[in-house]
Amino acid sequence: MMLELEGLSVSYGDLTAVENVSLCIEEGELFCLLGPSGSGKSTVLRTIAGFERPGCGRITLGDTDVTEHPPYDRACSMVFQDWALFPQKTVLENVAFGQKMAGIGRAERHEQARETLELVEMSEYADSTPGQLSGGQKQRVALARSLAVDPDLLLLDEPLSNLDRLLRETMQLELKQIHERIGTAMLYVTHDQEEAFTLADRMGVMSDGELVQVGVPENVYQDPTDRFVESFLGTTK
Ligand code: ADP
Ligand code: MG
Repeated sequence: MMLELEGLSVSYGDLTAVENVSLCIEEGELFCLLGPSGSGKSTVLRTIAGFERPGCGRITLGDTDVTEHPPYDRACSMVFQDWALFPQKTVLENVAFGQKMAGIGRAERHEQARETLELVEMSEYADSTPGQLSGGQKQRVALARSLAVDPDLLLLDEPLSNLDRLLRETMQLELKQIHERIGTAMLYVTHDQEEAFTLADRMGVMSDGELVQVGVPENVYQDPTDRFVESFLGTTK
């Protein structure tokens, strides 16, 4: 098991954003968390990454209970929707900065950063700054920065939703190929059901803070277990 969530609940003041979520992600799996805006998907990711503290529940990454660990001491790495790149740093410096934060030594940084840029086909842009890149290229750099720290689990929060439809579909295929090549377990959050069905080995559907169904895409589609999933997927007969 790469990730195990047990009875995870997260609140913001009086608002319970995530309620009693339990979930396992296997080694090498690409798992999509699907749900409408406000259903608690980002909160689940941010809590796994250590940016939010759960009110109750447990988070295990690999063999380690990380529930109380600070963000830098968790074997996961996050890709954000808005890329979160440093505009004044070059592509290579952006990737290397992520590695530095993760405690990777200077000697290894450079080679790993180059390798990861190659993986996302951005080597020729190593000395460019983010402002010189298109949206798709910026997202490739953000992906490289997260992969360059060699995480056990990659967390992706709607990474393609700022891109136009055609580019989004291209990048979905690229991401699937990268996943097949490196085999890193991924937890991919999206509100776009087509995207979830394209990418997922397994998927989970969230509604109003709760994880209401988990399964392989075919099963979730053909056999929705409740009204919400049925209407959200448009499979109501
Ligand atoms: P999603 O990613 O599925 O859109 P979120 O996890 O962002 O859902 O939000 C879940 C709920 O928590 C929403 O009602 C949202 O308004 C609320 N929420 C999210 N972040 C915060 C925050 N920092 N402070 C207060 N409420 C928040
Ligand atoms: Mg979100």
